[in-house]
Amino acid sequence: MASTAKLVARAVFENSPFVRCFRCLSRQAGVAESDARKAGQHLVKRDEFFITRRECQFCGRTDDVLVGGKAAA
Ligand SMILES: [Zn+2]
Repeated sequence: MASTAKLVARAVFENSPFVRCFRCLSRQAGVAESDARKAGQHLVKRDEFFITRRECQFCGRTDDVLVGGKAAA
């Protein structure tokens, strides 16, 4: 899990300031989408990322995306 989280986190930072949905992010990181989502939740718990709904800059779908930083709330 730790290495999957690392791959996912790196992909998010590579895309910044753009965002990708979990489907595109998982392909980019080379992991399964379900693993990418699990890794995302793991990263959110560490308070370094948050999940929100945005349009994916890659496929154009509006879906859950993982964003680096803390949620503005
Ligand atoms: Zn996408």
